[in-house]
Amino acid sequence: MKIPLVDLKAQYASIKGDIDNAIQRVVERCSFILGEEVDKFEKAFAAYCGSDGAVGVASGTAALHLALLACRIRPGDEVITAAHTFTATGEAIVNAGAVPVFVDIEPVRYTLSPERVEAAVTPRTRAIIPVHLYGHPAEMDALSEIARKHNLFLIEDAAQAHGATYKGKRCGSIGHLACFSFYPGKNLGAFGDAGMVTGNDQDLLNRVRRLRDHGRTSKYEHEEIGWGERLDALQAAILGVKLPHLDRWNDSRRSLAATYTSLLKNLEVVTPSEQAEAHHVFHLYVIRTRQRDSLLKHLQAAGIGAGIHYPIPLHRQPAYRAYSVGLSLPATEEAADAILSLPLFPEMSKDQLRYVAEAVNTFGRT
Ligand SMILES: *Cc1c(COP(=O)(O)O)cnc(C)c1O
Repeated sequence: MKIPLVDLKAQYASIKGDIDNAIQRVVERCSFILGEEVDKFEKAFAAYCGSDGAVGVASGTAALHLALLACRIRPGDEVITAAHTFTATGEAIVNAGAVPVFVDIEPVRYTLSPERVEAAVTPRTRAIIPVHLYGHPAEMDALSEIARKHNLFLIEDAAQAHGATYKGKRCGSIGHLACFSFYPGKNLGAFGDAGMVTGNDQDLLNRVRRLRDHGRTSKYEHEEIGWGERLDALQAAILGVKLPHLDRWNDSRRSLAATYTSLLKNLEVVTPSEQAEAHHVFHLYVIRTRQRDSLLKHLQAAGIGAGIHYPIPLHRQPAYRAYSVGLSLPATEEAADAILSLPLFPEMSKDQLRYVAEAVNTFGRT
């Protein structure tokens, strides 16, 4: 059996008629830039998140970058974030002209340690970007309190957490702003690049709205220097078809994750945990083991597409050398060496899942 890490074809097949109609509608109208499709999806996504508003942008990376600029993060400002994340989180900080300050994670949740964040605050700190990694929310109460106390912006990187909740509140409605990616493999995925900034502060949202569209205030007036980072109308139409299915897909991810956890019996393997305050949406099902590299080879030999998210933390990447001289983040480094993402997607069959679990269970016994 061959089992990919994610199977996007299965999802398209399940909603093909509606998707094809939506694409046809946009193509026939020839209205490809902003307009009705983007407005409609922004409203639907804001309502879904329980946030006051949403601004569609070109990618999750653009969402993070424009959110930082909307908060008027300036050169020399410091922004605290995790090194255990995709590079876009750090990239957005550097591209906004600011200095990324990498702090360690809390090892069970894989999200920012509030104690480490507090210890890293300096007079130059302007914002904190927690990452709701793998679909599990970060410790938002403690982080909100730190942000409030030091007058910092709290910007959620919710690129892996569409539909996740923290104490009953959806990720995307908790920080000053939140950033989503609709990269095809995410819990809510477009047919190309797409992203969204959500939030409850209309001034900040309006600024993102201006910045994504060349700093424009009207057709020919440009208030400030902006970017060409709009959400594509075709992607908005596709995402609008998919959004009503998101809760069902997330339920399926959760149920598959629970089945994995009940089937995995290898004593060398630690299964992921879900904290009481969280509704985990399992963007990834991440186990850990000291024999990660040999387990990965074992799974690959069995035709299983496991992955590592992420093997090299940002403070160990050449791109961030200037921001991480002598920096050591033990929990982050330990995680990077031990984590392994098993195949998980809403349409995965129980047979496929059992095959993967069996392969993990037999590892080390042959
Ligand atoms: C995917 C992702 C991003 C970037 O999103 P793109 O749409 O690919 O630009 C940012 N942060 C995290 C945590 C992600 O997983």
